[in-house]
Amino acid sequence: MTGAAAAEQPAAGQPTAERLAEQQMDAAVLLDFGELTLQRVPVPRPGPGEVLCRVLACGLCGTDLKIVAGAYRGTWPPALPFIIGHEWSGEIALLGPGTKGSGLAVGDRVVAENHTGCGGCPMCRAGRYNLCERVREPGFKLYGHTAPGALAEYAVRPAIALHKVPSQVSDVAAALVNQGALTVHAARRAGLGPGASVAVFGPGLLGLLMLQVARAAGATQVITVGRGKRLIAARELGSTDVADYTAGDPVTAIRSATGGRGVDYAFDCSGNPSVLGQAMRAARRGGTVAVLGLAGGRTAEVPADPLVLDELNLLGVRSSPNAYPAMIELLASGAVRTGPLTRHLYPLRDVAAAFSALERREAIRPIITMGHREDAS
Ligand SMILES: [Zn+2]
Ligand SMILES: [Zn+2]
Repeated sequence: MTGAAAAEQPAAGQPTAERLAEQQMDAAVLLDFGELTLQRVPVPRPGPGEVLCRVLACGLCGTDLKIVAGAYRGTWPPALPFIIGHEWSGEIALLGPGTKGSGLAVGDRVVAENHTGCGGCPMCRAGRYNLCERVREPGFKLYGHTAPGALAEYAVRPAIALHKVPSQVSDVAAALVNQGALTVHAARRAGLGPGASVAVFGPGLLGLLMLQVARAAGATQVITVGRGKRLIAARELGSTDVADYTAGDPVTAIRSATGGRGVDYAFDCSGNPSVLGQAMRAARRGGTVAVLGLAGGRTAEVPADPLVLDELNLLGVRSSPNAYPAMIELLASGAVRTGPLTRHLYPLRDVAAAFSALERREAIRPIITMGHREDAS
C-alpha cells in the first residue's frame, strides 16, 4: 500500500518525525515589519491529519509585499515573528498521524491550497470555504497569512489541502497554481464562456494567467491593459489586443477595439484602486466586472451611475475554492503557459533581492527555489 506510510513507519531512507523535529531549517522570517530575516528555525512537525512538505519553489507576490510592509498588521499576520509565503510547490517529506488513506505518499510532488475552513459553517458547507464564517475557530487557517507560510525549507499542511502535481508540470510552474487557480475561480464566478470579449487590467502574474485562462474558457477577444514589456508578454501568451495606458485612455482603446460596445467581462488584476472605475467604464451594458487584486487597505472610487444605469455586475473574487484541480490540468495540458512568467529565480538567501525585483517591477514573479542542505533532506 503506497501512500500510507505512517509517521511511525517511514519508508526506508525517509526521515523520521523525531529526526526532522530535532533539525533546523532556513526560513525567511518576518521579525519586524519592513524586513525579512533569514533564520535557522525548527522544522515544523505535522500534527494529526497533517503532512510535512519539503518546499521546492515559492513565489513572492504583491500581497506578500503588503504583509511585509505591515498593511494588514494584527490580522495578516496576527503576531510576529511570522513566516510568509503562499504560492508554492513542494514534495511530501513525512506523513503525520491519521493521514493513511489520504492517497498521499512520501515523495509526491504537491501544491497546497491556503484556505482551510472550519468545515461546519454555512459557507464551508456550501463549498465556499474561502469565505468561512468562523475564522476564529481552530479549523480555519489561511496559510501564509494567519498560519505559517512556505518561505522556508519545510512547511506543514493538512493533507486535505494538498493536490498532486503531474510530471509534466515543473516545480517552478507548479508554484503558479495558486495564482492561476484564483483566475479559474474568477472566470467561473463571472460566468465567462465561449465567444466572450474580455479586458484584463494589470499584466502582472495574475493578469497574464487570467488572460490565458479566459482564452481557455472560450474568450475570443482579450484586451490587456498595462504598460511596457509586460504587454509584449501579454501578446505572447494570447492577448488579442493590448492597450498601453501611458499612451492614451485605456477605456477609449477598449471601446474602439469592441466597436464602441465595451467588453463582456473586465477583470481587474491590478491591485490598484484607481483602476476599478476604468474597468467599469470599459464594460458593456449588462457586463461583468470582477476584482481580483487587493488594494492594501486603500479605497476605490466607484462610478455609481454606470453601475446602476448599465446594470453592471460587480464581483469580488477571493482565493480559489475548488479550483486547484482545473488549474493543474490547464498547466499539464499546455493550455496555460508559464515560460515567460518564471524567468526570475532566486535562492532563499537572496530573498531581499527577490522582493526588491518585485517592488521595482523587474520581475513578473520572483520565485525562490530551495537548495537543500545535506543534513535536512
Ligand atoms: Zn499571492
Ligand atoms: Zn467555515
